[in-house]
Amino acid sequence: MKTLREKEKLIFELSVEGKSGIDIEFPVEKKDFQGEYKRGGKIGLPEVSEVEVVRHFTRLSKMNYGVDDGFYPLGSCTMKHNPKMNEKVASMEGFLHSHPMFSYNLVQGSLKAMKVLQNYLCEITGMDQCTLQPAAGAHGELTGMMMIRKYHEKKGNPRKYVLIPDSAHGTNPATSTFAGYQVIEIKSDETGCVDLNALKEAVNEDVAALMLTNPNTLGVFEKNIKEIADILHEKDALLYMDGANMNALMGVVKPGEMGVDVMHLNLHKTFSTPHGGGGPGSGPVCFKKHLAPFQPVPVVEGDEKDGYTMNWNYPDSIGKVHGFYGNFLVTLKALAYIMAMGGKGLKQTTYDAVLNANYVREKLKDYYNLPFKSETLHEVVFNDKYQEEHGVTTLDIAKRLIDYGIHPPTIYFPLIVHGAIMIEPTESESKEEIDYFIETMKKVAEEAKENPQILKEAPHFTPVRRLDETLAARKPVLKWKGEGND
Ligand SMILES: *Cc1c(COP(=O)(O)O)cnc(C)c1O
Repeated sequence: MKTLREKEKLIFELSVEGKSGIDIEFPVEKKDFQGEYKRGGKIGLPEVSEVEVVRHFTRLSKMNYGVDDGFYPLGSCTMKHNPKMNEKVASMEGFLHSHPMFSYNLVQGSLKAMKVLQNYLCEITGMDQCTLQPAAGAHGELTGMMMIRKYHEKKGNPRKYVLIPDSAHGTNPATSTFAGYQVIEIKSDETGCVDLNALKEAVNEDVAALMLTNPNTLGVFEKNIKEIADILHEKDALLYMDGANMNALMGVVKPGEMGVDVMHLNLHKTFSTPHGGGGPGSGPVCFKKHLAPFQPVPVVEGDEKDGYTMNWNYPDSIGKVHGFYGNFLVTLKALAYIMAMGGKGLKQTTYDAVLNANYVREKLKDYYNLPFKSETLHEVVFNDKYQEEHGVTTLDIAKRLIDYGIHPPTIYFPLIVHGAIMIEPTESESKEEIDYFIETMKKVAEEAKENPQILKEAPHFTPVRRLDETLAARKPVLKWKGEGND
């Protein structure tokens, strides 16, 4: 008997010479190409029947794991349910078949949808204006930082430095560097928040901005946010907020009222549009009036009565950051979500997300170490300190969870926590699902004591076991290479 894995290997190479997936004759006229168009060698495609092709791809699709398969508590990523109604709205004919090169009077509905979404996002964030162009959070960061650079340039000096807390997501320093700044790291204090004294020391007229995630990547709300904003603004340095964690604030607190000048949102996190697999995503940037002249063009303007149009006349704009108007269909899904939830629903979402994370924290705090004891909002960061004495690491715990049908949490991030296990259940999980996760985490903690080897060798039941993750990321083999086809 062959194991399933051996069988899978065996049935990857299916090609048999002479087999065909087509068994009807098409009335197509045969053409004999000559010269440079004539193929010299074999076409190099596998020769398989239709049923083999169907089974092959169906089998491959089952090896995947997504948010529609089960619990996916990837901290900082907000892997919430994507309501199927969003997809319906995004595939309505008028949207689906509209073309970005249509004249504006033919796409009034699409322009209105953009304007309405922008207004909602401004309402949620407490900001004045919004651009939908950026295609991801990191792209939104770059857009925002370029606007900040332009703001300072207009005042005569782009400045040199951007301050970033040591708990930040890696995209923050990368973005600042891309925008031409040098990064100065700001230490966190023992509560996991920005150290105000360190901040005061670092801020001067050469500092363009602070990039701050709130709540930060430990899930802790920066309670001194107003004071942080004041310290910056005194030197005309700006406050950029990484809004990836808006699932902890939405409907309850507005960054615009906390002194934030510009921020991005991740529609593919907070606003339930699909996430992962490389996109498409959407990272709108919301900003205060003083940054409006620098926003990407074109800017959708107008109203129902006089009609909507696109304004290209922004001489100080940073230009375009995406083809046409961004990932339009993705933004529609977020619009559908916001309209379906309503203000009350969004607020409840935040409360439920925070409740779920704190439920997990409370139930697991005796089994996994909490490196920071501060109160947390929508996610909780443990580490492997209790398991270390049995030779078990965070990676082993993560791999073992896969055996129980659970996608591992985010691990080894934030970097300021050794062996971090960052859990974000989101609001869309049922109590039953979260209880299963909690019981599994407890069981894994037991196994770490009783039988560490079973964790070391996990996962046991997946099509592939432990991968060389560096090689898999750096040199992925993403396509089939047949004979005469590379
Ligand atoms: C996800 C995330 C980002 C980057 O967003 P992408 O959409 O993946 O580019 C930035 N900062 C934080 C805190 C995040 O969680």
